[in-house]
Amino acid sequence: MFWEKEIELLPASGLKQLQLERLNETLSRAARASWYAERLGRAGREGLSSLEEISELPFTTKDDLRTNFPCGLLAVPLDEAVRLHSSSGTTGNPTVVFHTARDIEEWGNLMARSLYMSGARRADVFQNTMGYGLFTGGLGMHYGAEKLGMLTIPIGPGNIQRQIWFMRQFRTTALHILPSYALRLAGALRETGVDPRRDLALRLAFVGAEPHTEGVRRRIEDELGVKVYNCYGLSELCGPGVAFECPEQDGLHLWEDHFLAEIIDPETGRPLPPGEEGELVLTSLRREAMPLVRYRTRDLTAFLPGPCPCGRTHVRLRRIKGRDDDMLIINGVNLFPMQIEKVLMKVPGVGDNYLIEIHKEKFMDRLVVKVEAHGALFRGTLKELEHLQCEIEELLKAEILVTPAVKLVEPGTLPRAEGKAKRVVDLRKIE
Ligand code: ADP
Ligand code: ZN
Repeated sequence: MFWEKEIELLPASGLKQLQLERLNETLSRAARASWYAERLGRAGREGLSSLEEISELPFTTKDDLRTNFPCGLLAVPLDEAVRLHSSSGTTGNPTVVFHTARDIEEWGNLMARSLYMSGARRADVFQNTMGYGLFTGGLGMHYGAEKLGMLTIPIGPGNIQRQIWFMRQFRTTALHILPSYALRLAGALRETGVDPRRDLALRLAFVGAEPHTEGVRRRIEDELGVKVYNCYGLSELCGPGVAFECPEQDGLHLWEDHFLAEIIDPETGRPLPPGEEGELVLTSLRREAMPLVRYRTRDLTAFLPGPCPCGRTHVRLRRIKGRDDDMLIINGVNLFPMQIEKVLMKVPGVGDNYLIEIHKEKFMDRLVVKVEAHGALFRGTLKELEHLQCEIEELLKAEILVTPAVKLVEPGTLPRAEGKAKRVVDLRKIE
């Protein structure tokens, strides 16, 4: 039941046909929302005759959701909606997303399918450390985990010692966790003298909700003794469960029976071929309460060309590099925080946390990378670890073509976010 073989292995032609049917249902449903009725025009009334024609329809942006707050994109009477979620507002005011009972049901099914694909089973004990409430990471995953029949612990974030206590008491085998929090957990286990391989039963971790590198994945796998699977989603399209890694751990299968994906050049809006990096644009194919047509996620990724060895036919997304507005411009050089993280993760002396600061000095930008030393190497003073600063500086210089100042700090001393990690502080406007 959770391995939806017919759908997951559906050949491309069948998948495309299913998408077209569902796209046309979505267009006519969306047209019931006052705002879409006008924008979609004839496509809303008569549908499209091929998937390619979607490129003629206008995009929907986060700003459109804000401008039409709260109900302008609602496609059902309000009394048919059973839940609302709201995005965490990383990039401005929050947006509101409504769900019908069927939306919630199908989202849970997608989650269960995703979790099952990467090896979660009924006998697993699932500890969900994502925030419950308006953020979709908590409840979104929760429903799928229960559907699958796992013992689900809705612990939410924070209080790391309590997390560890639950892991020990209930022999937790699977975690849903922010990658930044997973690194912190590894540090806290070390400090507490808990060896995950000896003292815990962990075997799986599902990580997502924030950009992270392959290096971070490997580190979490090493330090917690688990297999880590990348999980992507966004509130506007439901939440986690839009795309998920299979056991190959090479790209995230985007569930094409539920979402129609395009990758566009963010400047021109034109579609890009497989392999080329651009902005992910998503159209929901099943959502009732608030269908979205050509929603610009601002997330940068690419379609991975070629079939996946697992046999699933649903297109794979490359690991998300970040949002287009995560890009930093340092003295005219473009830079993404994940390029820095990639380098940091190559250095074993680097610990659980880092922070990128940008200063203005004499009309020049100055990049400072603060890095916590690794708890396993730290012996009460940074003296013996000073060589790491130069080592990291050299590696960074080669990768990002900007000369940074690296500042090694004691473990646990950089600010920690309650939710998603804040990796960059831009002080240029303040200084
Ligand atoms: P907000 O937009 O306020 O952060 P959401 O909680 O809906 O609200 O977050 C969705 C966003 O989180 C995505 O658009 C993406 O930028 C980021 N995200 C989610 N999952 C991943 C992932 N696996 N890798 C990288 N980024 C992710
Ligand atoms: Zn696969």
